Amino acid sequence: MDVLRTISELRAWRRAARGKVALVPTMGYFHEGHLCLMRTARRAADVVLVSSFVNPIQFGPTEDLARYPRDLERDRALASDAGVDALFVPSAEEMYGQSHETFVYWPTMGNLLCGRTRPDHFRGVGTVVAKLFNLAFPHVATFGRKDGQQVLLLERMVRELNFDVEIVVCPTVREPDGLALSSRNALLSAADRIQALGIYAGLDAARAAILGGERRSAAIRNEMAQLMAKSPGLGVEYCEVVSRESLRAVDIIDHCSMIAVAGRVGTTRLLDNLWTMGADGDIRIEL
Ligand code: AMP
Repeated sequence: MDVLRTISELRAWRRAARGKVALVPTMGYFHEGHLCLMRTARRAADVVLVSSFVNPIQFGPTEDLARYPRDLERDRALASDAGVDALFVPSAEEMYGQSHETFVYWPTMGNLLCGRTRPDHFRGVGTVVAKLFNLAFPHVATFGRKDGQQVLLLERMVRELNFDVEIVVCPTVREPDGLALSSRNALLSAADRIQALGIYAGLDAARAAILGGERRSAAIRNEMAQLMAKSPGLGVEYCEVVSRESLRAVDIIDHCSMIAVAGRVGTTRLLDNLWTMGADGDIRIEL
């Protein structure tokens, strides 16, 4: 596996790559969720490039950029075992130089859900992914459904800015007890981890309600609130039932809804969601 540190190394690697290229953008500290994206990329393309970059411009001034977990040696071994061909690990200086003035952002949808408390977050995500697309020219890029708002915004970016990239969305990989895998789980104490499970308990209650025929958002959110209240250490930042098209709240769920939850346990912020799929009369749930 090649380890590429500079833009010129990446461009040279890309010029030499033959066949279909898949890109897996990440912030590193790999877990089974990342590995699932890499294996999906492996199946979808001839050549797999993974980027590992803790992107400073998607963190707010008071957020956890400094304590975000990092371990390049471990990541290198895991990516190599997953059949990755090249790992791109640029420095912030390499990506942004001394100053940066050009951004991709979503003035409406980027300010909903997570955007309410993280005002520049999606602008940072959109900008770095657009740069990676322009550097790597992938045919395919894989993203996790776990970061639901992120992948929905990126699908729009691809459509509206005419990137010639197919976005593949991978299911959320979970611990056996339901907790969504996240690099930030490494920051949780054993006691925090138990509180963090409240998010999954809420979403699981939503799933049961929907499978039982409930379609009213208020009733579903009520069920979820009761479950999540059993985890007093979980500070729910939002729990919203939205349309995946607009990210706006809906009163009645249909086959294109998302129930998105963000919460804090101690100083660690966690996200999870549920998507409804299928036809109108026959709603399927992806959790
Ligand atoms: P991150 O390194 O957290 O920025 O995530 C990199 C990619 O992995 C994003 O597309 C995430 O949505 C995806 N990802 C993170 N956690 C999971 C998970 N538990 N299951 C599936 N994909 C995930």
